[in-house]
Amino acid sequence: MEPGHTIPILGKGYVRYIDHLGSDLRIVESARISYKSPSKGVDQDKKLLTYLYKHRHTSPFEQCSITYNIKMPIFIMRQFVRHRTFRLNEWSARYSELADEFYIPTQWRAADAKNKQGSQASGNLDHAKITKEVEAFHEKAYATYQNLLQQGVARELARAVLPVSIFTEVYVNCDLHNLLHFLHLREDDHAQLEIREMAAAMRTVAEQLYPWTFEAYHKFRLGVTDRPTPA
Ligand SMILES: Cc1cc2nc3c(=O)[nH]c(=O)nc-3n(C[C@H](O)[C@H](O)[C@H](O)COP(=O)(O)OP(=O)(O)OC[C@H]3O[C@@H](n4cnc5c(N)ncnc54)[C@H](O)[C@@H]3O)c2cc1C
Repeated sequence: MEPGHTIPILGKGYVRYIDHLGSDLRIVESARISYKSPSKGVDQDKKLLTYLYKHRHTSPFEQCSITYNIKMPIFIMRQFVRHRTFRLNEWSARYSELADEFYIPTQWRAADAKNKQGSQASGNLDHAKITKEVEAFHEKAYATYQNLLQQGVARELARAVLPVSIFTEVYVNCDLHNLLHFLHLREDDHAQLEIREMAAAMRTVAEQLYPWTFEAYHKFRLGVTDRPTPA
């Protein structure tokens, strides 16, 4: 995969591949150091990797890592930063002005009748009317932001009038073990649709770099039981 390969997400957002470390073979080699045994050919190597994944021998997967550049709305960033093992740097709204770019869903979802934190598709919502209202609100919020800046208010304070739908951007590096953990949690259907879209794009990049690992991921998807029970 070429550095800079970009997958569009969430309207104006994206997941961009920057670079990576290691390969499926690195995982196998790292595991084999336990016995100081050499590679026993492709079939055996792949079998070993699948065994490691299935039986949660997770540390060899930490020998690999990926760096992404991700643009996402701030309300998704709040979920993203809960993953403490990710190493990241974020665009600073103290140093520079935020762009006039907001996330607007293509479909407004209704509150889920059973799952308090969830949502469900709804034909009853007037999508066109809601979108118009939200666009007008974004316009007003951004105009107020600009107005405050023009009056000399510091960027770090003027941003307080902007909604969490505005886009932010990060460089993030994560090792493969913790990326898999993140994907187990955030590709799960209990996770919010928007972060699932982002997680799927991150996975699309990763599975081209570590195809054996993701064959195992699709087969076993271990860790789903680790997900927190919704409050
Ligand atoms: C569907 C869903 C709903 C959620 N709802 C809420 C919510 O309502 N409110 C809310 O606040 N959060 C919520 N969360 C966030 C959740 O509680 C976790 O913070 C988040 O999923 C990160 O998981 P993690 O700690 O396993 O991952 P990471 O932070 O990436 O850590 C990976 C692993 O490293 C270890 N680890 C990392 N840091 C520490 C540490 N300091 N101490 C001990 N072990 C550590 C743990 O084993 C951990 O599993 C939700 C998450 C999901 C997926």
